[in-house]
Amino acid sequence: MSEQSQPPVLPWDAHNQKLVSNVHPADWKNPTPASRYNLVVIGGGTAGLVSAIGAAGLGARVALIEKHLLGGDCLNVGCVPSKAIIRAARAEAAVGEAADFGVNVPAGVTVDFGKTMERMRRLRADISPHDSAKRFTELGVDVFLGGGKFTGPDSVEVAGQTLRFSKAVIATGARAAAPPIPGLKDVPYLTNETLFSLTKLPKRFGVIGAGPIGCEMAQAFARLGAEVFLVRAEAGILPREDRDASAILETAMLRDGVKFLDHGKELQLAKDPNGVRLQVNVPGHGYDVLVDQLLVAVGRAPNVEGLGLETAGVEFDKKGVTVNDRLQTTNSRIYACGDVCMKWKFTHAADFAARIVIQNALFSFGPLGRRRLSSLTMPWATYTSPEIAHVGLYEKEAKEKGIEVDTFTLEMSKVDRAILDGETEGFVRVHVRKGTDEIVGATVVAAHAGDLISELTLAMKAKLGLKTIGATIHPYPTQAEAIRKVGDLYNRTRLTPFVKKLMGKWLSWTR
Ligand SMILES: Cc1cc2nc3c(=O)[nH]c(=O)nc-3n(C[C@H](O)[C@H](O)[C@H](O)COP(=O)(O)OP(=O)(O)OC[C@H]3O[C@@H](n4cnc5c(N)ncnc54)[C@H](O)[C@@H]3O)c2cc1C
Repeated sequence: MSEQSQPPVLPWDAHNQKLVSNVHPADWKNPTPASRYNLVVIGGGTAGLVSAIGAAGLGARVALIEKHLLGGDCLNVGCVPSKAIIRAARAEAAVGEAADFGVNVPAGVTVDFGKTMERMRRLRADISPHDSAKRFTELGVDVFLGGGKFTGPDSVEVAGQTLRFSKAVIATGARAAAPPIPGLKDVPYLTNETLFSLTKLPKRFGVIGAGPIGCEMAQAFARLGAEVFLVRAEAGILPREDRDASAILETAMLRDGVKFLDHGKELQLAKDPNGVRLQVNVPGHGYDVLVDQLLVAVGRAPNVEGLGLETAGVEFDKKGVTVNDRLQTTNSRIYACGDVCMKWKFTHAADFAARIVIQNALFSFGPLGRRRLSSLTMPWATYTSPEIAHVGLYEKEAKEKGIEVDTFTLEMSKVDRAILDGETEGFVRVHVRKGTDEIVGATVVAAHAGDLISELTLAMKAKLGLKTIGATIHPYPTQAEAIRKVGDLYNRTRLTPFVKKLMGKWLSWTR
């Protein structure tokens, strides 16, 4: 196999052939390199694609190097396939709830997991032209397929060719971390790189890790009919999130049939002819559970190996490439963005960080080139049912930073549209700087929390307070009214007893 060719993603059906023909065409011929590039980008995931296209759009001479599949994790083994599966799981859950709406579904409804996965592969292939080698070439980017490696402070080698650069971007992403669990090396297990190649639903599905990926996939597979065992380090899920938010999700996952196994730090894995055994030997709390398939979703490890970073004078550690707030590495010509260097491991974070890199790298001597990562207002969401979304500070973080807050919470059960939709689980919680309406953080738990959080993100970014949100008309009935209602809660606190008394008097005179 030449350095440029790739093993196919599995199963090797028409959809995956279409995907690969877009994001790693077998007959691709790397171009003859320019004598020097304004920007060489290593890694063709979101961070790399946005860096390359943005720089080329500004007229820069750009080379993009991808060793596997353009589109990176998000398109191929991350957001896109996982959300397609989650959508199918929601369809299954809707069938289960249909009777509540007076819709009688005949008994014996089944899930065709093979079709669910085929739909995912079809949609992923349909989306893939957007990230294709052809599209990027047409947009003026020199696309090189092969592994990129620095050979000096201003040069990279790919598939036997040397590319010289004025500036470079490391956008090589991250992969599933292999935690030090006794026995892990000896058992077969899935990661996000192999999970989406399944064609048969595991009867008993083990998931290690109660973070966003673990929770999303555990709930989805349970809804699709697997018996799911989620191993977590301690009680509770999504440890970063607001405790009330994750408690609501935990109840929902239990209802969907997910079985939580605690004491994950004591976990041992053992090979079994029928799968993998999950064993914990804690007096009074031990277990020994056999699963057919096991997904490991415990953190991400940055892709820093084999890149020649030492040769280029780029420092890194186990968290990834070291960057300053302008996303510049210890070699001032070289920048990094995305999962390889950032704590925010999200597609939208990689996208917006790449926009910062383009400006800072191409205009490093002017005022345009001084953009900072810390200036971003970063939301995120976990796409479970209900979804959990967050922006800004959690209450605990505000306390740690010495910021006093007032907190306003509106339950979704007070929102007419949520009642009518049968989606009353959850809340909108907003923290404002004490005595003001300045939003410092917000958590939304709702069926579509990932959509609702954007209004609060915009408010934070544009420095619009809760007062303005309360005064903004939202169409009735929408679930987004929950956010306006939090504004109302705030506005009500502005009525001091004196003003309230005065208004009461005025109204009694004018009766
Ligand atoms: C299961 C799952 C679900 C997710 N869901 C969401 C979600 O819903 N929303 C969200 O915002 N985020 C989600 N994410 C996270 C999101 O996928 C990542 O944050 C995003 O893909 C990061 O983009 P990136 O460009 O930094 O890295 P990547 O997408 O990992 O791209 C890096 C690229 O660099 C290439 N590369 C590595 N080394 C070399 C080399 N030496 N030479 C050339 N190329 C190289 C890799 O092959 C890869 O294509 C999910 C992740 C997973 C795993």
